[in-house]
Amino acid sequence: MVTPKAAPQEPAKCPTCKGSGEVSRTVRVGRKRRVVGEQSGLCLNCLGSGQAPD
Ligand SMILES: [Zn+2]
Repeated sequence: MVTPKAAPQEPAKCPTCKGSGEVSRTVRVGRKRRVVGEQSGLCLNCLGSGQAPD
């Protein structure tokens, strides 16, 4: 007899990176903290998994 499994729960997306696992951060240089652009980096909230941590 086959027992239907409950629908797998979708993992909650990380709110910080919205599931992408990466976040863009502003890059500043110099003492004037001039903005030179954006750089994508690992999301520290989910550590790149894109899923909200427990
Ligand atoms: Zn994240």
